[in-house]
Amino acid sequence: MANLGIPHNTIEVLQKYRFRFQKKYGQNFLIDTRVLDKIIAAAEITEEDCVLEIGPGIGTMTQYLAERAGEVVAVEIDGNLIPILEETLSAYKNVTIIHQDILKMDVEGLARERGKPLKVVANLPYYITTPIIMGLFEKHVPLKNITVMVQKEVADRMQAGPGTKDYGALSLAVQYYAKPEVVANVPPNCFIPRPNVGSAVVRMDRYEAPPVQVEEGKLFAIIRAAFNQRRKTLANSLGNAPELGISKERTGEALERMGLPVTVRGEALSLEQFAELSNLL
Ligand code: SAM
Repeated sequence: MANLGIPHNTIEVLQKYRFRFQKKYGQNFLIDTRVLDKIIAAAEITEEDCVLEIGPGIGTMTQYLAERAGEVVAVEIDGNLIPILEETLSAYKNVTIIHQDILKMDVEGLARERGKPLKVVANLPYYITTPIIMGLFEKHVPLKNITVMVQKEVADRMQAGPGTKDYGALSLAVQYYAKPEVVANVPPNCFIPRPNVGSAVVRMDRYEAPPVQVEEGKLFAIIRAAFNQRRKTLANSLGNAPELGISKERTGEALERMGLPVTVRGEALSLEQFAELSNLL
């Protein structure tokens, strides 16, 4: 099968099947072989690997993955793409195509069946980037790494540190589970149709153990409340979140014990400081 990273090959397949892009599924297909090479190199795929690809589209990246991995499991929600994938991937015996919504799939079961941690590689549908990534982390799916194309702005938020405008709940959640690194910036003209925004490839290496010792549920409840009301002081934000049951005064006392001003905002605290606060509360 022809390399679908070359634009005219993709166009030929789209025309043959009279494929109509569905906006609701975040469909922007990659048509740039250099970007595909960069993604594959960053994910460090070997014959030992079982790769989960989320949203294979017409199978462009799947072909690259199948050339290198022991096995590829490609999960696609759009039924119109399944017959296309069956043709474009017919030469690869190590690919399994699953017609499903990734958010409803038992990915942990897949890793368990294979008996090894998975590598996840995807050009993600942008409308569900965060639920996909957080779902993989929070359900503790055994993973080696995740290499994904996301909106540039989301990549910036994943990597951001305290005191910057991009810093927030997503930065802290990702950095609790993994070490994120932007490996490529990708302009809109590398996709068909072109997205309205720039994209970036982020590789996340999952930590074997999180960098802080803390009760996870409580930490994330505090983080969510802190950034729900970003412009307020941390003590006020937590005091205004009834689900936490933590008074403004208790947060103030804990912050003082940590040597921080009682008027500090959540955006100034590092992951370590959020963990210390969570443990004190
Ligand atoms: N991997 C292809 C490529 O790079 O050319 C397509 C990437 S496109 C940005 C996102 C893909 O995810 C589309 O094929 C879309 O139909 C699929 N998708 C969207 N929502 C999904 C979901 N909930 N579960 C599985 N696939 C989904």
